[in-house]
Amino acid sequence: MANRVPLIAGNWKMNLDHQQAIALVQKLSWTLKDADHDYKTTEVVVFPPFTDIRSVQTLMDADKLELGLGAQDLSKFDSGAYTGEISGAFLSKLDVKYVLVGHSERRQYHSEGDDVIQAKTAAAFRHGLVPVICVGETLEELETEGQSAVPIRQTLAALAGHDNIGEFVIAYEPVWAIGTGKVATAEEAAAVCGKIREALAAELGEAVAQSTRILYGGSVKANNVAGFLRSTEVDGVLVGGASLDAEEFSGIARFLKHIAL
Ligand code: PEP
Repeated sequence: MANRVPLIAGNWKMNLDHQQAIALVQKLSWTLKDADHDYKTTEVVVFPPFTDIRSVQTLMDADKLELGLGAQDLSKFDSGAYTGEISGAFLSKLDVKYVLVGHSERRQYHSEGDDVIQAKTAAAFRHGLVPVICVGETLEELETEGQSAVPIRQTLAALAGHDNIGEFVIAYEPVWAIGTGKVATAEEAAAVCGKIREALAAELGEAVAQSTRILYGGSVKANNVAGFLRSTEVDGVLVGGASLDAEEFSGIARFLKHIAL
């Protein structure tokens, strides 16, 4: 995994109100503490719904938790008459460090195309947030274009035309593997992550490519995570369903224990 600190990211999607969020974060942090989890060796971040973020931030702050905080989306605008939108400025103010951009559910259900995703990536950079840029092919695209073409195209589109590129993370999530129980093989995930890194090197230089974390996502569980993270090309995982269960998610965060076996 080179010198990149693995990132275990939990996307809660539209689940858990603010009280349930507090309960889950408490349970997760206790479980990781009991297991002597070293956050410097493996970073663990939760991505609750917007309405939970203030409660989770307050808890993390009061109890000095080492868990990180992310958001699931942000507006491409900074402020103004955009009803229902959330500015990156508000997220930064709540100690949010990461923000998902271009999740396949936003591409699919909210018609977010490459232009919107590029603008949201720019907004994240403007507000000092680290965009976790989600890319991945549908089953149809897999059949017509193969596995790497779409993720590479989406990655380069999100990163095109920025004056200042800050830190970012790429999450390779084959759409056919999200929430379906179908998983890419560890070899497939490693191959696509490797191809994305090559594309980053060609576009942004070797230093950026080597320092950028590229995650795999799609039906990751505690019992299959080690396979993905054995590859030096895969620097962590983006987890949906399994991140709602503290035991399961902490099992994923402690993947190094499985690898050492
Ligand atoms: C996701 O929502 O990003 C995801 C990978 O979901 P799941 O783990 O449930 O497939």
